[in-house]
Amino acid sequence: MPQKDIDSLLSEDRRFPPPASFRSGARIGSMEEYEKMYRDSVENREEFWAAVADKLHWFRKWDEVLRWEAPKAEWFVGGKTNLSYNCLDVHLKTWRRNKAAIIWEGEPGETRILTYQALHREVCHFANVLKRLGVKQGEPVILYMPMVPELAIAMLACARIGAPHSIIFGGFSAASIRDRVNDAKARVVITADGGWRRGEVVPLKETVDKAVDECPTIEQVVVLRRTGREIAFHPERDHWWHEIIEAVDADCPAEPLDAEHPLYILYTSGSTGKPKGVLHTTGGYMVGTYATSRWVFDLKEEDTYWCTADIGWVTGHSYVVYGILANGATTVMYEGAPNWPEADRFWSIVEKHGVTIFYTAPTAIRAFIKWGEQWPDRHDLSSLRLLGTVGEPINPEAWIWYHTVIGKKRCPIVDTWWQTETGTIMISPLPGATSTRPGSATLPLPGVVPEIVDHDGRPVEKGKGGFLVIREPWPAMLRTIYGDDERYKTQYWSTVKDAYFTGDGARRDDDDFYWLMGRVDDVINIAGHRLGTMEVESALVSHPKVAEAAVVGKPDEIRGEVIAAFVTVESGVETGADLEKELKDHVVEEIGAIARPSDLRFTDALPKTRSGKIMRRLLRDIAAGRESAGDTTTLEDESILKRLREKKP
Ligand code: ATP
Ligand code: MG
Repeated sequence: MPQKDIDSLLSEDRRFPPPASFRSGARIGSMEEYEKMYRDSVENREEFWAAVADKLHWFRKWDEVLRWEAPKAEWFVGGKTNLSYNCLDVHLKTWRRNKAAIIWEGEPGETRILTYQALHREVCHFANVLKRLGVKQGEPVILYMPMVPELAIAMLACARIGAPHSIIFGGFSAASIRDRVNDAKARVVITADGGWRRGEVVPLKETVDKAVDECPTIEQVVVLRRTGREIAFHPERDHWWHEIIEAVDADCPAEPLDAEHPLYILYTSGSTGKPKGVLHTTGGYMVGTYATSRWVFDLKEEDTYWCTADIGWVTGHSYVVYGILANGATTVMYEGAPNWPEADRFWSIVEKHGVTIFYTAPTAIRAFIKWGEQWPDRHDLSSLRLLGTVGEPINPEAWIWYHTVIGKKRCPIVDTWWQTETGTIMISPLPGATSTRPGSATLPLPGVVPEIVDHDGRPVEKGKGGFLVIREPWPAMLRTIYGDDERYKTQYWSTVKDAYFTGDGARRDDDDFYWLMGRVDDVINIAGHRLGTMEVESALVSHPKVAEAAVVGKPDEIRGEVIAAFVTVESGVETGADLEKELKDHVVEEIGAIARPSDLRFTDALPKTRSGKIMRRLLRDIAAGRESAGDTTTLEDESILKRLREKKP
């Protein structure tokens, strides 16, 4: 654990107030309103959250809003509810019955639209399938599926009967499935004969078959026919979705579940090491995702909302499915790659379906920049009114590109900071209230009490970097690491006394805005100065020839560490010693001599998790000339490591 705070070198002064036209129609349309809400949420925490919870359906009202004995939180104690009911049944009694709940587009180009009523019927059917397979309340069910409506259907069916789902992203290998299934001791897996990705079939069932050989608990596998491809079928264990669903009826009332009943287990992305099985429960998570969807996305009845995240990540859980459907909104789902058949697929979807709110990741935005403006320029993007990002700090230059080329300077951008563990967005602009600054996640949402502290848990001065912690409990917080309460305590509640430790570095500026500086584990220590990765990377990315950059510390006898930079360039740019020097000088000019990279290597790609986050710990090993010891199973493309190793600085 580092001893000092983190030095900050970046200064970014551009400000973007919400456009008057956006502000006038917004749910939260001024800073005064935000400040009042925030104060209220902190001073009258329980009343504040109770008022939000009151907007949702409860079979039995809670006795107590919060029972908090750090680090154990219970929200809406004694209350009984059902998240599937709140996402579906409540809307059937309104005009929304025939509103589109899900607009889905498959990669080959087909479209399916499920109304709330149709989705409800499918969910009830599938919930009865689960019951028929003997799934009991509290029993974890594994979902390993492509991005098709049936994935959302299976989730909502699990939630309906109180069987916690554990979704494994469809890009993971048999070994990753095995580890997660064995951790959850699951009996039932839901999968498909495949899914489409870049014109090819991802052989999901084949991968499940491999995993099952090493998963003694698995007894039943349900297979959705998606691609029509031949698969091996084991009649004693496998069931076709379309056949087994014929055998059940559509009547399946939602179970009244305890507010603290487990809703799902989800493993973190594994950017820093072995993924952790984060456990979320029903009531608090429901209230949190419902409220933050309204606040941050300004979600309205008429919106066509599209979050591009795979449902296999927490972003997909909270903001493709649960928070959005609980609000009765329309959510868009897309199955495949952003550059299939061409690099304008996302923009064609925006145009075709009239998407109004678009939420994606910095890694995708950097890819769009690299592919060029001609792709979005082919499409009419005038339906868009709000943009969002999540997953990593967004480099200011990428933010400006997003704002200009996609948002046409008309759409506010919400840079949302949160984690699998937090369940909901924690720090983010409110698009009708906050004046945004590129690269800053701005201010905490109501009910969130962050602080930036040093090693001893003391708040650091404004402008100084430190460890981001959260002081007070919030409804959607994780309850534990599945099956490992001890690790929950040591991982999150032991580093800083009386606070939830996020593992991220941050600083606060004079407006009290938060700037995420990168992960604490990735901080670089140069001659007593501690630098976050974000600022140096952003300096590199601000050079017009650079597409993407990652920096890490490399051991150095004299200075402790020096900076090693890994850089990918825009298409068509020539790399070599001249550009290397130009980029090093550019960093010095942007943020100072201390940050001058000692090594700079050009590469065609960076090692990333399958959710698109840069894995700096692997680059650290490469810079130091070591073999990588840690877990690499969450890596998107293993061959990158080999290519990088062969490249000398
Ligand atoms: P692991 O915990 O297994 O290493 P992970 O932290 O990548 O994996 P997630 O929970 O998916 O798993 O990611 C949360 C992290 O992503 C945050 O802690 C932060 O580092 C980063 N992050 C997410 N959104 C933002 C954002 N808007 N700005 C800066 N960083 C962000
Ligand atoms: Mg994490």
